[in-house]
Amino acid sequence: MLRTHDLRVDFANVQAVAGVDIELPEGPFGLGLVGESGSGKTTIGRAVARLVDAADGSIEVDGRDITRITGSELRSYRRRVQMVFQDIDGVLTPRMKVGTALAEVLTVHHIVPRTEIRATVTQLLTDVGLDPELAQRRPHELSGGQKQRITIARALAVRPRTLIFDEPTSALDVTVQNLVLETIEQIRAEHELNYLLISHNLAVVQRLCEQVAVLYLGRIVESGPTNQILRRPAHPYTLALRSAVPTLDPQHPDERIVLHGPPPDAANPPSGCAFHPRCPLAIDICSTQQPPLQQITPGRQVACHRSKELLTDPKRARTP
Ligand code: SF4
Repeated sequence: MLRTHDLRVDFANVQAVAGVDIELPEGPFGLGLVGESGSGKTTIGRAVARLVDAADGSIEVDGRDITRITGSELRSYRRRVQMVFQDIDGVLTPRMKVGTALAEVLTVHHIVPRTEIRATVTQLLTDVGLDPELAQRRPHELSGGQKQRITIARALAVRPRTLIFDEPTSALDVTVQNLVLETIEQIRAEHELNYLLISHNLAVVQRLCEQVAVLYLGRIVESGPTNQILRRPAHPYTLALRSAVPTLDPQHPDERIVLHGPPPDAANPPSGCAFHPRCPLAIDICSTQQPPLQQITPGRQVACHRSKELLTDPKRARTP
């Protein structure tokens, strides 16, 4: 079990993550982190991978806080929790053959004896649905989808228990996206992985995640079982995100809710509910009182003064 409690991450004077609790049970299990750019979702992933430091709060693995570990303990933790980055080209060494790059990871981390490296590289490529012949190619000879699956194979090489996918399909066209999503579905079952899936695409989260946390300006505004939240959002921001993906429910597509303006500056957040300047349902109290994140049904939490109305009567709640 991996969990964060009141996790805070600061960059200079800006609170990028402002007190976030998430839980990742043993796999196979996926937790989606969704929100616009600047919502803090990638920073949470980087903090969990210990690539940025937490300013406060804790990250516990099997009951032990790992936010301050250093040296060999930290190296071992970073093997256990692997991040699959969005910038594929920044991860692969341009002149190195794919097989050599994977072999290097296996060697540096002493994953298997030398005699087994070749067979393990073949297995890794097979696990992510690639032809083992690709071991002889260099990154520029691969398609975007092949490169993304190589980065997944590279993360799997150190036998992690947790993966953090940062927008795994955002740079790919639709058919290739599907192949990468199939790969994630396959490895999550075979390797019993748990993972954080950082995405702005609710359709990807619907397919791969049991739970979802919706983030706005560094805070969770809604969280719970993915199917419940996507079927009936209790926060206007989730409703707006859902309305942007008509394929979620093709029989009953939402009326598109267009949010006005960009998300606010995290260095100068609005008073009350941070979403109120853009919220189509805002009422007077919203600009003065920040709604707490509260349980509304078992396992489901939301931070909105009007969540009950939205849940019971979405049409009425559309009128301020
Ligand atoms: Fe909108 Fe008010 Fe709910 Fe914030 S608290 S999401 S402004 S209705």
